[in-house]
Amino acid sequence: MKIETKAVHAGDRKADPARRGSFVPVTTPIFTASSYVYESTDKLDRVMGQEEPGYCYGRYDNPTLAALEELITELEGGAGSLACASGMLAIQTALLTALTDRPKRVLASNALYGATVSMLTKVLEPLGVDAEFVDVCDVAAVEQKLAAMRPGCVIMETISNPLLRVGPIDRIAALCRSAKAALVVDNTFATPLLVRPLQLGANLVVHSVTKFLAGHGDVLGGVVTADADHFPILRTLNRTSGVGLGPFEAYLTMRGIKTFVLRMERQCANACRIASWLGGHPGIARVYYPADPGHPDSETIGRLLPKGLHGAIVTFDLKDAGKAEVFGFMDRLKLIVKGTSLGDVHSLMLYPAIASHRDLAPKQRERMGITDGTLRLCAGIEAVDDLIADLDQALRPA
Ligand SMILES: *Cc1c(COP(=O)(O)O)cnc(C)c1O
Repeated sequence: MKIETKAVHAGDRKADPARRGSFVPVTTPIFTASSYVYESTDKLDRVMGQEEPGYCYGRYDNPTLAALEELITELEGGAGSLACASGMLAIQTALLTALTDRPKRVLASNALYGATVSMLTKVLEPLGVDAEFVDVCDVAAVEQKLAAMRPGCVIMETISNPLLRVGPIDRIAALCRSAKAALVVDNTFATPLLVRPLQLGANLVVHSVTKFLAGHGDVLGGVVTADADHFPILRTLNRTSGVGLGPFEAYLTMRGIKTFVLRMERQCANACRIASWLGGHPGIARVYYPADPGHPDSETIGRLLPKGLHGAIVTFDLKDAGKAEVFGFMDRLKLIVKGTSLGDVHSLMLYPAIASHRDLAPKQRERMGITDGTLRLCAGIEAVDDLIADLDQALRPA
């Protein structure tokens, strides 16, 4: 079945008795119960002992979450998923799963979401997990680091934030396999419509479902999808920690996913138009967009991304701009929403220096190529002419 069909059908109307009675609801209801009862104690005993499938306690699993998890597992092509209360919790849980029976060392992409860098350096390093960074677009450098460091796991993003670099997941997965390191991929920016990392050899995929999958700016959540080797560890970890998403958020996420393919196609097309338009504007110093033939990763992009789907995010540098000029530009925007986050039906403009990458030292940001004039736009589903008109007027200083 194609992804458009799976997005609408997977997870719903299942034979699972907890998700249906004598009638079958067309969509999965919101189950709020924290515990579950059975007619016989014998059955409860078997469910508690995990000898028989079933639900007994909300921390272990929940029928609404199970439906969402099945849906995302279908989209990513994994063995199973765990829906988490946030994208960051999904990343933390994926890293703990990867490191359970491996050396406590993480080799991380040097172009990661700011909070992921902070998690590595401020949470995991003090706990004794070493972290080192590498340019994942440089396969030789990754190979060298793997040999020198012998990490238990490698973490990268499919399309990096905010400069939109695309690393060769397939080649890195092959190197990780030989080095016995798990590969964790944050697929938030690409979504399973563009790339399915497990099918390229990754072991664990994470999403902030807050973004494109839920898609309407009304959910905070995450998900980890694992291959068959890692799924049992992931579930066991959750039994003792209860990182699960709330059932109401799971319902909203599932509802959002039904239209995610349509939204994503429109958002990618809008972003592509906006990137070309910005490229011809005299007030713009530089545009970053994966469809650009001059993109440094164009070979990987041609191999891994589908034709015409290059993501909904456009990053650009305002010419000769510091904080004051960027603030002025942001204040002049009338339609594009100036908020942190991305992936919503409405277009969002973000200033990485004060938002996603705020916690990093200015020098560290500079090393990553993020300047004081760098802005990140995530195209929504609006009419693209209206978005361009808004950018056009905001680029004209008062
Ligand atoms: C937003 C985001 C996260 C964190 O997700 P939350 O849902 O905010 O916890 C992680 N990775 C990427 C690429 C993101 O965009």
